[in-house]
Amino acid sequence: MNAAPADQIRLLDLQAIDSKLDQLAHRRRSLPEHAQIDKATADHTALKDLVVAAEAQHGDTTRELAKAEQDVEQVRTRAARNQQRMDSGAVGSAKDLENLQHENASLAKRQGDLEDVVLEVMERLETAQTRVTELTGRLEHAEVVLKEATERRDAALAEIDAEVAKVARDREAVAAVIPADLLKLYTRLREQQGGVGAARLFQRRCEGCRVEFAHADLNAIKAEPADAVVRCENCGRILVRTSDSGI
Ligand SMILES: [Zn+2]
Repeated sequence: MNAAPADQIRLLDLQAIDSKLDQLAHRRRSLPEHAQIDKATADHTALKDLVVAAEAQHGDTTRELAKAEQDVEQVRTRAARNQQRMDSGAVGSAKDLENLQHENASLAKRQGDLEDVVLEVMERLETAQTRVTELTGRLEHAEVVLKEATERRDAALAEIDAEVAKVARDREAVAAVIPADLLKLYTRLREQQGGVGAARLFQRRCEGCRVEFAHADLNAIKAEPADAVVRCENCGRILVRTSDSGI
């Protein structure tokens, strides 16, 4: 294949632009914010589940307290009713009176036990409330962390995308003037050779694979006409000769 030396030099410009685009794509993929967002999302989801569980626990305990207070109230009401009957003098027989006194004594004991239950449930309710408050605070913090990481990522992406757009315009201008067959060969080699399709011959080395050419090889390259498209014998890339080539 033949191509004017100026077009071969332009290929190096294109290679520099393509490498820049590859770097930008790599930077886009490897932004630390991606991992930060993944972690923040996982934390947020886990905390949300914990808040839901803590709120359910709080709800259950609230109902438990209402029930315990209701139990106390029933015993109290019944004892008060007994006391009222005894005080009214309506209870005729000494036996009935004695029974009521016994019942109230055991109701008083029962009320004491139930009041202990109320206190115990109240303590658990307080613990449950503390946990809901603590987890809700942590969830709010996780929301802020996630939001901030997302904003940082979006800002970084916008910056990269703006640069990509600018570099892509440069690429279009450079690619437009390179002969189609040379561009096609470059594109194929670039795909095969890890993103580098054209390399400068610089101080007797291929800048694509860094191999240093022996004297005889250099002479052979030197003997090629200026418009010949030379390929590196080692890596196969298009080898572009410049004034710094050392030949
Ligand atoms: Zn090479």
